[in-house]
Amino acid sequence: MKKLTKGTFLALLIFNFIACQETPKQAEEIHQKTESEFEYVVDRFADLQILRYKVAGFEKLDLQKKKLAYYLYRAALCGRDIIYDQNYKHNIRIRKTIEAIYNSFRGVRTGSDWDNFEVYAKRVWFSNGIHHHYATTKMVPDFSETYLAELIKNSDRNSLPLKGVDGKNGLIELLTTVIFDPTVDSKRVNLESNVDLIETSANNFYQGLTQSEAQVYYQGLKKDGDKEPPMYGLNSKLVKENGQITEHVYRVGGLYSGAIEKIVYWLNKAVDVAENDIQKQAIQLLIKFYNTGDLRDFDEYCKVWVKDTNSVLDVVNGFIEVYGDPLGYKGAFESVVSMKDMEASERMSALAKEAKWFEDNSPIMDAHKKEDVKGISYKVITVIVEGGDAAPSTPIGINLPNSNWIRKDYGSKSVSLGNIVEAYNAASSGGTLDEFYLTEEERTRVKEYSKLAGKIHTALHEVIGHGSGQLEPGVVTPSETLKNFRSPLEEARADLVSLYFITDPKLVELGLIPSIDVGKAEFDIYIKNGLQLQLRRLENGAKIEQAHMRNRHMVASWVFEKGKADNVIEKITENGKTYFVIRDYKKLRDLFGQLLREVQRIKSQGDFEAGKNLIENYGIIVDQVMLKEVKERYKSLNAAPYSGFVQPKLIAIMEGKEITNVTLEYANSFVEQMLEYGEEYSFLGY
Ligand code: ZN
Repeated sequence: MKKLTKGTFLALLIFNFIACQETPKQAEEIHQKTESEFEYVVDRFADLQILRYKVAGFEKLDLQKKKLAYYLYRAALCGRDIIYDQNYKHNIRIRKTIEAIYNSFRGVRTGSDWDNFEVYAKRVWFSNGIHHHYATTKMVPDFSETYLAELIKNSDRNSLPLKGVDGKNGLIELLTTVIFDPTVDSKRVNLESNVDLIETSANNFYQGLTQSEAQVYYQGLKKDGDKEPPMYGLNSKLVKENGQITEHVYRVGGLYSGAIEKIVYWLNKAVDVAENDIQKQAIQLLIKFYNTGDLRDFDEYCKVWVKDTNSVLDVVNGFIEVYGDPLGYKGAFESVVSMKDMEASERMSALAKEAKWFEDNSPIMDAHKKEDVKGISYKVITVIVEGGDAAPSTPIGINLPNSNWIRKDYGSKSVSLGNIVEAYNAASSGGTLDEFYLTEEERTRVKEYSKLAGKIHTALHEVIGHGSGQLEPGVVTPSETLKNFRSPLEEARADLVSLYFITDPKLVELGLIPSIDVGKAEFDIYIKNGLQLQLRRLENGAKIEQAHMRNRHMVASWVFEKGKADNVIEKITENGKTYFVIRDYKKLRDLFGQLLREVQRIKSQGDFEAGKNLIENYGIIVDQVMLKEVKERYKSLNAAPYSGFVQPKLIAIMEGKEITNVTLEYANSFVEQMLEYGEEYSFLGY
């Protein structure tokens, strides 16, 4: 279901899947920091950093669209409590306690205990709960149980979420257990085999029943021959009480009603300013679904939503992804409000129009060229706000809806979150530039062009790369011929199309790049990433498992080896540090072309052995000395393994009861934003 369909337009969510399923962690290191005027990083703590993203073009929207954005923004934030409660039943209470301490603690707010409390608080906000957002294990504070009690006792009792603070069943006793006891609710999502996944997972999707009882329940709902089954269980908590299993449905009047009513309130306002009838109908159907809780209403909504491809604004708002449930039924609340990235869309369509030229001028064998080639439609959006499970940690690609039959019969939307990717790239430590680039020439060029190079590389990869080439007659699909090597080979093919053309004067002619130096910068970035930077994510002694990493390592290692005789890429050691410096860009382009021809041949002929050899010889085994060196050098850069975002703030300017303008401000403090959200968007009891 999470496969990427290179289909239609705009926005619903998938987690960490982009066109070529690139996760944020992978995107971040590819391109270097270039801009100084906009500060991307606002906070850094534990294994995290907090970034901001730019919303270019918001002020150019007309008033109606600004209003629409504003209402959808409010609707997005109103669901915040839901994700906390879905993640763990005590999360809202814990967050309330943290907020109360922040707002009213009368003791000393300096020193290591307080600092450790602050770090813990920020980690809870980041993860929407007490379990690590990625590992899903319980986070252990660096302060003591005694200090927690001291914080609580010296904070305003009226702000605390339980009136009874001391003694049996008081707040202190409860929080001490759930926060500090490693045996209590230690993992949010447990995926180990041979254990009861419900019993061993701390999420709040099931209560009082076993894994097999839940599975039997949902199997029982399926109807034979139903070609359009709803996603059973998506919007409910499954509870067994007095021997009876019932679903507590998320809807107005049901579970989470307090938050859902607010969401519906803002969605109703959005209906009045919708851009067109299809969008209006989609929002109305979403409201209907929130009122009835009937999943068939959700499907009706999805069918219309996928048709809404002409609107400038788009929204994902609902119970969407099921990663938080080890059984894969329960949808986490999330929302993403976005607008079309006009500039990127133009770039994509400019390339798509020239698809035939690229195919004709490709170095692949004539027999492998498509006669009738079309660029693949691939859309980029600009995020305006994210909420629920999509924040602060965010996907960088969206591919929805998740329902298989809707995807097949009605289509889906697949997009890249352009400004999020841009922020990741811009924030990824300018440090790597100084650390891994030896010459001033490289550094200057990469500084100037990395951002544009990244955009063009993605566009070429997606629009031209994946769409080019054809199989020889009688050859079956790559998943059958190339089997487990299909994925890294396909990504390599798309990358190589991009790398081959990105220094071509044709791109200058099309007005996409000012000079081929943009392409040279991409060469620098790609080679260093493939041979060095990406290795930092591996453990010492490890091989490469992930498909994109295999592809990049294969491509970079292959051209490095084949170019050795001509010194195309020189390996230099200085002060114990290794550098790869490209000495001949023209010859390197030629090598990319040769490899493209071979990878295309492998795909077109279904040559499993050759494909396997390429990946096994160049893509999997890592020079362990280099791996160790890279990890050491990265350590000195103090780069955070995970990033998340503060959201922009939309402000409605009122004249009487009328909104006359909506402005957008960038937040500059994560703590302030979290406290503000706690103040304004707390709608559920605890
Ligand atoms: Zn791809």
